[in-house]
Amino acid sequence: MKYELNDKIKSLSPYSVDKQTYKIRLDANESFINLPNQIVEQLKANLDEINFNRYPDPDADELCLAYAQYYGLDRKYIVAGNGSDELISVIFSSFLKKSDSVVVLSPDFSMYKFYAHICECKVLDYPKCNAEIDVEELIEFCRVNNPQMIVFSNPCNPTSLSLETSQVKRVIENFDGLVVLDEAYMDFDDSSLIESAAQYDNLIVLRTCSKMMGLAALRVGFAVANEKIVSALRATKSPYNVNSVSQIMATTVLKNKKYLDGCRKRIIESRDFLYNALKPICADNGVEVMNTKTNFVFIKSENAALLFEYLKTKNILVRCFGKYLRITAGNENENVELVKEIKMFFKGDAVI
Ligand code: PMP
Repeated sequence: MKYELNDKIKSLSPYSVDKQTYKIRLDANESFINLPNQIVEQLKANLDEINFNRYPDPDADELCLAYAQYYGLDRKYIVAGNGSDELISVIFSSFLKKSDSVVVLSPDFSMYKFYAHICECKVLDYPKCNAEIDVEELIEFCRVNNPQMIVFSNPCNPTSLSLETSQVKRVIENFDGLVVLDEAYMDFDDSSLIESAAQYDNLIVLRTCSKMMGLAALRVGFAVANEKIVSALRATKSPYNVNSVSQIMATTVLKNKKYLDGCRKRIIESRDFLYNALKPICADNGVEVMNTKTNFVFIKSENAALLFEYLKTKNILVRCFGKYLRITAGNENENVELVKEIKMFFKGDAVI
């Protein structure tokens, strides 16, 4: 065989997901709320409108309009993607050139470094201090290193912490390169810059329908930015990136404002329940629980890996990152069961 894979992809392995069946899955920051029958019936009726032999609308106009209306934005500042993940990929491959540098914070969403690698860009790693971002230090880091781009999630996956709007603005206003502000979890917080995104000449705000809206299966995300950036994104994305089924289904759900507002409320309640239930258990056992502005709770424990394995034996899957566990807020029964098992683990009654 003559053909060789190039060095940058030779040793890559596919994104790995635990495909085993678990009674309780709290590992991927998904919503615990599946669509109610009433909306599923609307979706089924809308399927009749699709011409399956035709390509989708390349601009996803109806979808972007419904998104704009839900958040009170102007449609012209919005581009739809096949999940925000696709938009991250498009931004890295088109707004950066080979050997450009990008500031990525640690820890943060793992795909940023992955796409930087694929684009052969240099990653400038900015380590957070105990999961917190020191904005002035970050600004100085960017000033000294002069990267073309900085990307970070706010609120952050996996730390669950959030920066205030004024702090994020300081980063944007003190940096000459492009700021990619990933607001995947911003529906659970209130420090979004989505409404002022178009006023900046160097900002892209990313959002997703996969979290609060509970539409992870559809793969729909959005970029919000000024017109110059939006037309560059339109020019660089693949033409029919969001399929017709996802366009029509996400549009239908976005028009159900009352339903979505209810989802946000229920998920925040679930997250607060989980946080408040875990806090005393963690305090008694020397485990740190971060504040949370997301739909998950992030804890730090020397026993994280053991606890992770113990929960698996109880048919509960969470996410483990070294000494940290990230636990998605589930429905009431799931949360109660999880808390019971964590309590058991720390009481020392756990058998692994
Ligand atoms: N950004 C962050 C911070 C995320 O956590 C995720 C999903 N886990 C994404 C982007 C990707 O979301 P999507 O489903 O829209 O591709």
